[in-house]
Amino acid sequence: MPKKPALSAKHAEPSVKLSTRGVARLEARHPWVYRSDIAEANDVPPGAIVRVLDQRGKFLGTALYSSSSQIAIRMISHGSVADLPALVAERIRAAIAYRKELVRNTDAYRIVFSEADFLPGLIVDRYNDVLTLQILTQAMDAAPVREAILRALREELQPAGILERVDARIRELEQLPPLRSGPLWGEKSSTVISMNGDVTSAIRFHYDGLEGQKTGAFLDQRENYAAAAEYAHGEALDAFCYQGGFALHLAAKCSSVTGVDSSRPVLEMAEKNALLNGRELEWIEANAFDLLREYSAANRRYDTIVLDPPAFAKTKRNLEKALGGYKELNLRALKMLRPGGILVTCSCSFHVGAADFLGVVAAAARDAHKDLRVVENRGASKDHPILLNVPETSYLKCLILSVSN
Ligand code: SAH
Repeated sequence: MPKKPALSAKHAEPSVKLSTRGVARLEARHPWVYRSDIAEANDVPPGAIVRVLDQRGKFLGTALYSSSSQIAIRMISHGSVADLPALVAERIRAAIAYRKELVRNTDAYRIVFSEADFLPGLIVDRYNDVLTLQILTQAMDAAPVREAILRALREELQPAGILERVDARIRELEQLPPLRSGPLWGEKSSTVISMNGDVTSAIRFHYDGLEGQKTGAFLDQRENYAAAAEYAHGEALDAFCYQGGFALHLAAKCSSVTGVDSSRPVLEMAEKNALLNGRELEWIEANAFDLLREYSAANRRYDTIVLDPPAFAKTKRNLEKALGGYKELNLRALKMLRPGGILVTCSCSFHVGAADFLGVVAAAARDAHKDLRVVENRGASKDHPILLNVPETSYLKCLILSVSN
């Protein structure tokens, strides 16, 4: 029988002792310690708050414990924690305040980004008046923590609905009971979001919290949509267009825009979004690899191409294959771009580093016999902060390149 998690100092807090390597991780200000770097953890219940000690017993801080993840502890404080739900609520308020400083021109953005907001295992997104949350660790799943999360979000943001989006695989890995995605509070689950402009120029999207892929919308690309639109011109192609994020932004600048995706339901939503913005775009249901191969063989030409494929490298093991995939896509796109054309090329695979990605695009340019200038070298929007000593918080690369010949 799993014991109930200890949530406050009223219960005796269990402790874990780290190996020298575990201590070194914390000294490097990384919040995760792997199970192999735990020297001693006796009878620690799943999801407990633990006091973290070095092998001589010196106190190093407080962490959230997982009984099943390879990441055995995630630091939550360098001091003691008397009341986890209260600390979580305080951190949520701080995360909201941070967004108020940095996020402009949108009613859709990430409010809490897990470790990058010092809330390991919690993700909260705002879609206008609808909030979604994802809980990814045992400690965040405890009932008093969940209550504190909902209360803080309601008090700070007065949403019309809060939904939980469940990642079934992660719950299984964390040995948490299965759960369905659905409403946690309030009535509303769908809405319209606006971004990158004022009342007249903002681009609008339907959002349905009970549909869509994983997070519902790719908020991390929001600032990149606006940046891409700055340089986009002529005939544009948005491969892997999903619900039209880049395509609809480009439509304001380009003579024609074609969006390609292999999923019909996302294209249906993309078409609804086009109507919402009073735009006419062409949507093609196709495998982007096949379509790019076919179009480039047929000598089709474009002035602007966006490549935003799904993560090819989900693990380190398939890095080589992933790099091959990126190279092929970029090569085909480059062959189709007219002189002066713009390539917006993205990778959201954490395992493909920024330098790897630049390298692969450079290799594609050599094979395509083109010279490229880097107009902008970008990452995720500011509401997805990168925590400098935590490389895992930096995953999205978005290069905007100008083709000179
Ligand atoms: N640019 C989008 C996000 C793209 S997500 C935005 O900012 O909103 C990746 C998309 O690629 C998904 O919509 C998925 O359906 C699509 N996809 C995956 N494999 C594909 C393939 N082989 N060809 C075309 N689309 C594909």
